Amino acid sequence: MKLVTYQSDRGPRVAGVRNGGCVDLNKTDVRVPTCVKELFAQGPEGLAIAADALAIGDPMPTEEIKLVPAVPNPEKIICVGKNYAEHAAESGGDVPSEPILFNKFPTALRGDWQPIVLPGLSNEVDYEAELVVVIGIGGRNIPREKALEHVAAYCCGNDVSARDWQIGKPGGQWLLGKTFDSFAPIGPALTTADEIPDPGKLRIQLRLNGQIMQDSSTTKLIFPVDELIAYASAVCTLSPGDLIFTGTPPGVGFARKPPVFLKPGDTVEVEIEKLGTLRNPVVGEKP
Ligand code: ZN
Repeated sequence: MKLVTYQSDRGPRVAGVRNGGCVDLNKTDVRVPTCVKELFAQGPEGLAIAADALAIGDPMPTEEIKLVPAVPNPEKIICVGKNYAEHAAESGGDVPSEPILFNKFPTALRGDWQPIVLPGLSNEVDYEAELVVVIGIGGRNIPREKALEHVAAYCCGNDVSARDWQIGKPGGQWLLGKTFDSFAPIGPALTTADEIPDPGKLRIQLRLNGQIMQDSSTTKLIFPVDELIAYASAVCTLSPGDLIFTGTPPGVGFARKPPVFLKPGDTVEVEIEKLGTLRNPVVGEKP
């Protein structure tokens, strides 16, 4: 099942994708929550009711609704650094012995086709194609062997990064360079986990203006999805709708010779097998 969230007069509402249109699931069956986080908190039982609603509901043409990020208001956005060996190498670092975690704020989220806005404060904005995990039933100290049971869905993500802020600020801090507004596009829709039995076997590609810049597979994740969930949940409670950006493969712009950074007029596409293609235009910040 593919799920999106759209903006209605009464706030954001979850919808399922069918025949190229969007079915408002709560309007079809009131047992389905309007909020995707509440839906995911219900686990597989809630998703089964949602799937039944999707099968019978009336699709609205997508042109007539305004889509917002598929999880518009997650409690947490957790990101993983250097989680592909060849990317760790091109970034000038060793393969990490434990996951490197950092975060973005929800104000950075954008949906499919929403622009990445280049901040006037940076001259080095880069792209990073990433598999994004969406937590379903939450928990603390989730054991690795049960971790995938806590995944509700997957989608494509772009961990947009201002390298001059990520690398150039004191204290080794990554947060600021990673969390400018619009630096966390996700989409195009959420694909529920029942359709992705193994998230460690997905081809992942990034194209900049149609040119392939990253082309790899999640088979190469140093720390796979189940281990990341176990590791993060040892520290903090994971909640329904939390997002985990799992790291980027090699081919990022700053490691190229000469470096490639995003500029106004660019289009960035992240495509992951079975999850679709996330497309975002790049624009300059209005003065
Ligand atoms: Zn990243």
